[in-house]
Amino acid sequence: EGASYGVLPRPCRALVLLNPQSGAGRALDDFHAVVQPMLADADIAPSIFITERPHHAQERMREEDLSQWDTLVVMSGDGLLHEVVNGLMERPDWEEALKTPLCILPGGSGNALAASINYYAGNDHVAKKKLLTNCTFILCKGLHAQMDLVSLSTASGKRFFSFLGFGWGFIADVDIDSEKYRRLGNARFTLGTLQCLARLRVYQGRLSYLPLGPEHGAPPAPRDPPEPPEEGTEQGALPSDSLLAPLGQPVPASWAVVPEEEFVCVYAIYQSHLGTNLLMAPAARLDDGCIHLFYVRAGISRVALLKVFLAMGRGTHLDLGCPHLHHVPVRAFRLEPRGSAGVMTVDGEALACEPVQGQLHRRLCRVVCG
Ligand code: ADP
Ligand code: MG
Repeated sequence: EGASYGVLPRPCRALVLLNPQSGAGRALDDFHAVVQPMLADADIAPSIFITERPHHAQERMREEDLSQWDTLVVMSGDGLLHEVVNGLMERPDWEEALKTPLCILPGGSGNALAASINYYAGNDHVAKKKLLTNCTFILCKGLHAQMDLVSLSTASGKRFFSFLGFGWGFIADVDIDSEKYRRLGNARFTLGTLQCLARLRVYQGRLSYLPLGPEHGAPPAPRDPPEPPEEGTEQGALPSDSLLAPLGQPVPASWAVVPEEEFVCVYAIYQSHLGTNLLMAPAARLDDGCIHLFYVRAGISRVALLKVFLAMGRGTHLDLGCPHLHHVPVRAFRLEPRGSAGVMTVDGEALACEPVQGQLHRRLCRVVCG
């Protein structure tokens, strides 16, 4: 069961879902100026769908006749791709629908997947127009590969499929608080980080996880055992979370429970980049079968936390030897916050604070990559 690669056909019919409000509000102009001429040279014909409101793209994906398209391109931030993935998962034919290669072109203020794909492709670290050019070039080449998704479920019964990460505490607050600085583009995160550092707080809860395996800490074995065929799976039933016990029951015995219950932040990331300038999990790959679980225990000083964030620009934060910063490769995790203060984020989008757990589903969708 190895990875499977593909290449987009030529001519190529691309549906481009574009959020005109994303980032600094320049996505449509950038599309015409940068993307369209390159696609024309590569024999890729785009049809543009401009989103008018939140969930517009998700609704369209639920209904869309996908036989018309060779690829679904998202020109926005990570939030719009999250909608597209979840819209596809809401279809009775989700399994077939997920075979359509997805593509991300950075048009938002949070472009973590675009930065990750640029990094996996071996390109130099770039941002803004250069990142857009690199990602458009990757689309023009048209190679696509499988990507892991994480299934997240909440105590109130919500279920999401996530391609980037889940956060709680400090980083989630920065992400959501800084929404008001969206017009600054990526700088919104720098300003937000400094503001949140000034009023650093502690978040209480219990964190549990299923470690990746005996090779703990090492890259996962190339021949990962295939997920057992799910029993009682009818046509259209969503992939079952076989590693999870119901929320409200204790975690399975093979899980670890973090003894401390006070955190500054918890972040489960499955791509390399948390933002264009934040290389949080340098070892991550699209289909490595791994959730990189990071947490920072309470008691860290502001200066030490700032150092962690500054080092994350180069991906060297784990070399600092900071005793409050932990990194564990896992297959599944559970977070049970005490109280409902603070926010949680999924792929950069806000979520009410409540118990959440998630497990990885390997190679569930496809994405255009270098
Ligand atoms: P950014 O990186 O700038 O946050 P995102 O792609 O994450 O960009 O989009 C942010 C939010 O905007 C998403 O929740 C999405 O649903 C929403 N959205 C999509 N289209 C529109 C629109 N036309 N007006 C306002 N919000 C929109
Ligand atoms: Mg966003």
